[in-house]
Amino acid sequence: MTAAATALDLAALEQQYAELKAQNLALDLTRGKPSADQLDLSNALLSLPGNESEAWRAADGTDTRNYGGLSGLAELRAIFAELLGVPVDNLIAADNASLSLMHDTIAFAMLHGIGGEQPWATHAAESGRPVKFICPTPGYDRHFGICEHLGIEMIPVPMGQDGPDLDQVRALLAQDPAIRGMWVVPTYSNPDGVVYPESAVRELLAMPAAPDFRIWWDNAYALHHLTDTEHPPLDVLALAEAAGNPDRVLVFASTSKITFAGAGVSFLAASTGNLDWYRSHAQFRTIGPDKVNQLRHSRFFADADGVRALMRQHRDLLAPKFALVQQVLTDRLGPAGIASWTVPEGGYFVSLNVPDGTAAEVVRLAKEAGIALTPAGSAFPYGNDPRDRHIRIAPSFPPEADLRPAMEGLATCVLLAAARAGNR
Ligand code: PLP
Repeated sequence: MTAAATALDLAALEQQYAELKAQNLALDLTRGKPSADQLDLSNALLSLPGNESEAWRAADGTDTRNYGGLSGLAELRAIFAELLGVPVDNLIAADNASLSLMHDTIAFAMLHGIGGEQPWATHAAESGRPVKFICPTPGYDRHFGICEHLGIEMIPVPMGQDGPDLDQVRALLAQDPAIRGMWVVPTYSNPDGVVYPESAVRELLAMPAAPDFRIWWDNAYALHHLTDTEHPPLDVLALAEAAGNPDRVLVFASTSKITFAGAGVSFLAASTGNLDWYRSHAQFRTIGPDKVNQLRHSRFFADADGVRALMRQHRDLLAPKFALVQQVLTDRLGPAGIASWTVPEGGYFVSLNVPDGTAAEVVRLAKEAGIALTPAGSAFPYGNDPRDRHIRIAPSFPPEADLRPAMEGLATCVLLAAARAGNR
């Protein structure tokens, strides 16, 4: 990449950049939010369950308006058990954010311990060494935010096309008994779009580790396909049991990018032991979830096929945006040979790798030209991309009319930063 950068025409790129700045753009490629068009697909939710008599009553007679029901509504759990490939008895439906479930489960383990072991915080205080998590990188910034906020040391492990380097994971687990957790986004990972193959999953589930080591299995994009190659979720609970570690995984998902990002339903799937543990602590922070929201979701979907049909409508809106991103990257950056990027089959992101040492400069140049990008390094623990090369592109939110100039502008900034570095 560095050699190719010296071949770029610096003067022409300075000129292109000056023209870009003169356009006074105000465009945003930062967060992976659904667009307003996507949110509109679920507007029927706004008038459900309705106020006709008994409309608020669940199939088993539960008055959803009242307190209670810590595990969530049976009819919605049945729909998502089928979609996530887990037994319905091992699935809890909760409030609007799976991130809260992830935060709470880690906080519970810190304060109270998990699997009958010592609280993590006590262990850390007595040993004088922090609890540690393995973090495949690049990864989801908010996962890393939870760790940092709760005093958990993060150990980055590089992501490849089939997930993280498993030899490194195995060696870390063998060497360091303070490792208690690992983040995994198994389907269309944020941001690389990686789908973990079953063989890698089986290996992860079988590796020797501390008895209270858990994998935070965040299947946020389980149903978010962008092509006809739909990667179904693995029955990870059964695989964990088969590997002799039935309690190793805590599975998370939500409807944040199915219905409303701010008013969806989250899910936790786990072994009976882990769910009992979760409820034993969650009962002190809530008397029950928003069951009216769960009821309206189950009425809106009707069944698992209703969710699948909705996801195809999302795909119809998202796929052209992802195609546009690929087209601009291929046309503008392909010939220069200075960058590489992912071609995801699902999820919400494209990872762009620019020449080493230029990502922060690209983000700065883009900002000056009115194009907001996620800060360089934000997909890495502590915001530290050791090669300063990764940029996360989130094409879902802007309309296509904005996405094209934003991507064209980004390409100009990548080329200019590379040309300037190559000329130094
Ligand atoms: N997990 C991943 C990997 C994400 O990318 C996101 C949102 O971008 C979330 C979780 C947030 O999930 P929720 O809205 O259910 O809190």
